[in-house]
Amino acid sequence: MNTTGFPLDVAGRDLGDLLDRAKVPAGDGPPLLGSLVGGSAVAPQGEGTVRISPATGQPLFRAGDESTSVVEAAVARARSSFDTGRWGRASGRDRARVLARTAQLIEARADDLAELVVLETGKPIREARGEVAAAVNAFEYFSGLARDVNGRTVRDIDASVFAFTVREPAGVAGLIIPWNFPLGILGQKLPPALAAGCTVVVKPSPLTPLTALAVVSLLYEAGLEPDAVSVVLGEGPAGAALVAHREVDVVSFTGSTATGRHIAAHAGSQRLKRVALEAGGKTPVLVTANADLDEVVAGLTFAAFFNQGQVCVAGSRILADTSVADELGERLAARAAGLVLGDPWSEATQMGPLISQQHFDGVSAAIETSRQEGVRVLAGGAPSAPEATGARPFLAPTVLATDDDGSTAAREELFGPVTVVQSFTSLDEAVTRANASAYGLAASVWSNDLREALDLTLRLRTGTVWINGSTDAFPELPLGGRRDSGYQAEFGREGMEFFTENKTVQVGRTRRKDWYTA
Ligand code: NAD
Repeated sequence: MNTTGFPLDVAGRDLGDLLDRAKVPAGDGPPLLGSLVGGSAVAPQGEGTVRISPATGQPLFRAGDESTSVVEAAVARARSSFDTGRWGRASGRDRARVLARTAQLIEARADDLAELVVLETGKPIREARGEVAAAVNAFEYFSGLARDVNGRTVRDIDASVFAFTVREPAGVAGLIIPWNFPLGILGQKLPPALAAGCTVVVKPSPLTPLTALAVVSLLYEAGLEPDAVSVVLGEGPAGAALVAHREVDVVSFTGSTATGRHIAAHAGSQRLKRVALEAGGKTPVLVTANADLDEVVAGLTFAAFFNQGQVCVAGSRILADTSVADELGERLAARAAGLVLGDPWSEATQMGPLISQQHFDGVSAAIETSRQEGVRVLAGGAPSAPEATGARPFLAPTVLATDDDGSTAAREELFGPVTVVQSFTSLDEAVTRANASAYGLAASVWSNDLREALDLTLRLRTGTVWINGSTDAFPELPLGGRRDSGYQAEFGREGMEFFTENKTVQVGRTRRKDWYTA
């Protein structure tokens, strides 16, 4: 195996230069990656763990699980960059220009970055291109906001006081990223943090560090001073070290509810720290008797199986009016059975493999549990045909049916290509059952009756509701959960505000009387 360059010669194109900064010299075996601290690679201790690409079934890279000293070094760089004002006090225009240039560099390398996304996640190339485009969009949007970080003025409290508020950058931000949209979710956190004037330590998922290393390399190329952003590789403890670190001012996390709970419990251990938690979901999809079933079937096939269902807002629990539920289940099952699984690089492919064999085993086990619970399998429910898949962890798109709200399928986030169809007999019942979920990330409502759709929407207790739509996210719109889906939205002005602190300034307008003698 080639160890001098990154063996990323997909379709005859060498993508290795995107990762040049992070490569460290190593002997035989897959290339070894180091953390990027202050712009340079830090070699991991030991040989590193081999990551198998779900797209190829072959070893892709080796990476270390960083010791606390690397986290310390990265935080120290970020602290210094912030405290000396090299980034935190750069003008809004200067910050905007770095982000805008980065958007251009990402766009210029869009095809290569999409290949990297495919290699590290296994998702189909068409979806990977969409993920890169979403990151460009986010860098562009927050580039604009970087010039518009403002407080407010309060003039008329009384004649003696004039006041204003200042939004200041929060300081050093720790960003903890999951594997399902490694580039997309980096785009939700890194541009607003930098736009606000924070300096940053990124901790990507150990399964998918490549795009984070590549995009941060492009940020340096765009003129970012290297201490302002570091990337620390590693597993949970590296993230936990960021959460606990006294010099990290805020942490923005996306990942599972279990990890989110852990972070919430530890965020105050060394100092009181604000955290943003984007955790799991189980999105209820309400389909009323007034819905257009053709549109619903097409929309929900995408909502359930896009990114192999590894989507926090996937349409994984469909609650349909009893008059349409059976037909919807059958038609959804037929569409699912017809989806094209296979080579992620083929333009015709609609679903790729899951992220890892371990995740495949977990989702498969949950499907088996569902069978034992008496849930009906309308489509899928098994590994897809071996001749179509080779050694990679492909799972057939699966449609289940049950009216048992206590079942695993109706209750738990399976985070795979699995959706369950349930039926309801009244809209009140549908809302009550949807709101009984432990999760509160998102919901969707399908109805051609505007009043009905709006009424349902206002009664659902989730952070986002789509009417006749699903899964879309835009940098202009806040995206965040409630209950076990976490708190503090990201994206939009609200998302950027998280990376700032308020300061209230009161200006005495008149000479003060002496309280004790007056
Ligand atoms: P995960 O919780 O296992 O890991 C997420 C990140 O947290 C990784 O970088 C991991 O190394 C790190 N981590 C693990 N333990 C930690 C600890 N104790 N302290 C600090 N960091 C720690 O999640 P995952 O499997 O990578 O991602 C899938 C999950 O992400 C799903 O539950 C999904 O719903 C959720 N998700 C949520 C959203 C959202 O916007 N709400 C978006 C995408 C994914």
